[in-house]
Amino acid sequence: EMTYKSDIEIARAARKQPIAQIGEKLGIPSDHLLPFGHDKAKVSQEFIKSQANKEDGKLILVTAINPTPAGEGKTTTTVGLGDGLNAIGKNAAICIREPSLGPCFGMKGGAAGGGYAQVVPMEDINLHFTGDFHAITSAHNLLSAMIDNHVYWGNAEEIDVRRITWRRVLDMNDRALRSVVTSLGGVTNGFPREAGFDITVASEIMAILCLAEDLEDLQRRLGNIIVAYRRDRTPVYCRDIKADGAMTVLLQQAMQPNLVQTLENNPAFIHGGPFANIAHGCNSVIATKTALKLADYVVTEAGFGADLGAEKFFDIKCRKAGLSPNAVVVVATVRALKMNGGLAKDELGGENVEALKKGCANLGRHLENIKKFGVPAVVAINHFVTDTDAEVEALKAYVEGQGAKAILCQHWEHGSEGTKALAAHVVDMIDNFEGQFAPLYADDLGLAAKIETIAKEIYRADEVVIDKKIATQLKNWEKAGYGALPICMAKTQYSFTTDPNERGAPTGHSIPVREVRLSAGAGFIVAICGEIMTMPGLPKVPSAEAIKLDEAGQIEGLF
Ligand code: ADP
Ligand code: MG
Repeated sequence: EMTYKSDIEIARAARKQPIAQIGEKLGIPSDHLLPFGHDKAKVSQEFIKSQANKEDGKLILVTAINPTPAGEGKTTTTVGLGDGLNAIGKNAAICIREPSLGPCFGMKGGAAGGGYAQVVPMEDINLHFTGDFHAITSAHNLLSAMIDNHVYWGNAEEIDVRRITWRRVLDMNDRALRSVVTSLGGVTNGFPREAGFDITVASEIMAILCLAEDLEDLQRRLGNIIVAYRRDRTPVYCRDIKADGAMTVLLQQAMQPNLVQTLENNPAFIHGGPFANIAHGCNSVIATKTALKLADYVVTEAGFGADLGAEKFFDIKCRKAGLSPNAVVVVATVRALKMNGGLAKDELGGENVEALKKGCANLGRHLENIKKFGVPAVVAINHFVTDTDAEVEALKAYVEGQGAKAILCQHWEHGSEGTKALAAHVVDMIDNFEGQFAPLYADDLGLAAKIETIAKEIYRADEVVIDKKIATQLKNWEKAGYGALPICMAKTQYSFTTDPNERGAPTGHSIPVREVRLSAGAGFIVAICGEIMTMPGLPKVPSAEAIKLDEAGQIEGLF
């Protein structure tokens, strides 16, 4: 039986280059790299500005079918494809999200790729990294503190303390803080009220940082955050509390993209990490745009499956940032297709071509959906060593029947050797692409109609249920000038429907919109269709119990 090295063992054996050398590959002079140790750096704001008139490279989105709970290898494939493009002689960079620290102590597993397709230093990237999440947490909680302070000192804005919507954040899975009562203990501590904590990646500030074009735009968006309502239901903005300036100061460095490298010493930008449910789930606009100025090919990832991740990447990030993606890679795994074909997680072990064939309908629908955005797509089969040849062949045949191509990728096992064929095909697809990206719906479509369009065109629902209260809310936001905002759908990632157990390619379902929220700073309206958790908990036996330093001071038990 073969044994495989763990992700952390592989990452530790990496022959890293000094970060200045990685910057050099992209033409970043060393005095414009702000190093954090030897293997991480931020790119200076001035350098980014100086690149504004350069031509953009090509943008490639990596997305996936509806996943298994473990993820389908989008990050792993993003890294693998970046390395593959470099291996065939192209100048390519990758752009991914910064992982959240809290979940690392829950379930084992990092978010820096896997096997021989990883970014390094993976421990740092998964833990404190360059302090961006600390900065976001601080900026968020400064605003929280200033709101309660405003109320304490006389409440000139007449905030209704029962209608303070701005919560607090922490980068830790801590269910005990989901709902709390603050200001207990007497007169000097303010007015007791119900409050709560979310995890930092769910902060609107995270979404704002990821969508802002520059520091001015950042401050403008921060000012636009709605923090509370008055008794007459008029909104109180962050700028009314006068917190936007100080928050921008706290975020100044965090706005500069982080540069690291892959195991094969190719450049990787890791910047920003918004939740993929109540936010849009992609790395920062500033990192993506910087990468496009510096590399000929930029590979990036969107969270969850294509129904959520790719749709939001196109309709929120690309629309708002004026990005025009050139190609899409849909990651499919044999195990997730078998799950989509009806198997349970513990039934994925042996060969099952029938279940795989059945589950292929899920992939087929995602391919159809991506066509609606006008961008060409290829399927990357992220190979697991347990996949059988018969399963892989059945999958390839299915995709061919759909008029597309599926390419077997073995980057997890072999690094760039395993993605050269995919890389060559992606380049070819881009060279021969004559179409043009377009978002799914127009800015001026009504808010309810936008939700309906996504539900019908992407989820293939028969109907959307928006009750009167929610419809009125949407109408009021249109009247208040928010009608042109895109929709950010918050729904289960496991299904096209709102039921995580409805796998494959279901039709005839109904999408109930339970709640809508205005993220006025980020610039989207969240439509919540199902249970959404913004503060995760830890499992019964958290991986933290097994994490420690060994005698050499190296981390054990993390990945
Ligand atoms: P996603 O980005 O889709 O959530 P990741 O790329 O983070 O998925 O991968 C999820 C987990 O699966 C990681 O722990 C990674 O190491 C593992 N993984 C990914 N691809 C493979 C593969 N081909 N074989 C074995 N494990 C893999
Ligand atoms: Mg990922």
